[in-house]
Amino acid sequence: MLKKQPTKFKISIIGSGFVGSTIAYALMLKNIADEIILIDKNKHVAIAEQLDLSCSLKNICNCNIYAGDYSDIKDSDIIIVACGRSRKPNETRLNMVNDNIKIAKNVANEINRYYNKGLILIVSNPVDIVTYKMTQWLNLPYGKVFGSGCTLDTLRFKNVISNLVGNCDKTKVEAMVVGEHGESQVPLWSRVKVNNVNLETYCAIKNIKINEKIKQNLAQQVITMGSNIIAGKGRTNYGIATCMVNIIGAIKNDKKQILSLSSVLKGEYGIEDVALSLPSVVGKNGIETVCIETFNSLEQQMLYKSSVIIKNTLENLKKEPIVL
Ligand code: NAD
Repeated sequence: MLKKQPTKFKISIIGSGFVGSTIAYALMLKNIADEIILIDKNKHVAIAEQLDLSCSLKNICNCNIYAGDYSDIKDSDIIIVACGRSRKPNETRLNMVNDNIKIAKNVANEINRYYNKGLILIVSNPVDIVTYKMTQWLNLPYGKVFGSGCTLDTLRFKNVISNLVGNCDKTKVEAMVVGEHGESQVPLWSRVKVNNVNLETYCAIKNIKINEKIKQNLAQQVITMGSNIIAGKGRTNYGIATCMVNIIGAIKNDKKQILSLSSVLKGEYGIEDVALSLPSVVGKNGIETVCIETFNSLEQQMLYKSSVIIKNTLENLKKEPIVL
């Protein structure tokens, strides 16, 4: 009897710049994919990254990596959109919208030409806007198009809390950021736990000072961490690559993990017709459901405000036709 061939896990990465190539590197180190395709407007970049990655990782990973064209996205389990210009030090992510939405439209046209299966994972900024527009342009079933959203902010939030409580193991910190992946993000202080204990209680037990001012300062550190990194080295890449490996691991292994991902809302928390991050169950079919959990009234207000900011940006976009 013929043995059933194991299905290969194929990932296409559109945009082979710092972010795209670092995601490829992290995926290869983790041995998650059987095949990775690097696609870039500048084919020389994709070829050079492919060469660099395949030479360095040949002996420690079974993944085949190629530089390809859009036609190679066929049969991908995941298509990552990581192209677009990166942020300048004094810019917000929303400031890049006009440049990156044109690139995203171009990419959507190409995906529509060749797509036959798979999830679309958006990384390009402003990620909530690009996720919303991509969802419209690609018109795929629910949960198949989503953005990395506030996974990176959540990682950074956990990090500042871990530092606050004396560099405890970050896996012992439960925390999440929701809303915009940007300035109006919402750190869910009411749900922060360390070692399964509510943050305030934990700080009281350990004699660690915590008050509103300290919280605001920490939340601000999370918001400005990206621009501080960009001011120093011109880009951020390792954090998002780490998040992507986590998201892709949850998809591949159908973990039903709850992550703060960006997707188009359908009335959750009274918000609709905008993409932003909320705790979302992710598995092999993408986002399976967005969780409705209890946020306190300040967090709900902040979330609503965040949705208005993103909606206004979408409204402004409508005023200018996208000329390719
Ligand atoms: P980069 O300039 O290094 O790379 C971008 C690449 O996209 C370039 O190689 C460029 O040739 C390519 N490109 C442009 N238009 C294209 C098209 N139409 N088709 C294919 N490729 C195209 O930038 P980067 O540092 O890699 O950042 C990429 C994006 O990721 C930016 O939008 C950045 O803001 C975003 N980013 C998101 C997060 C997040 O948390 N979501 C974190 C970091 C960076």
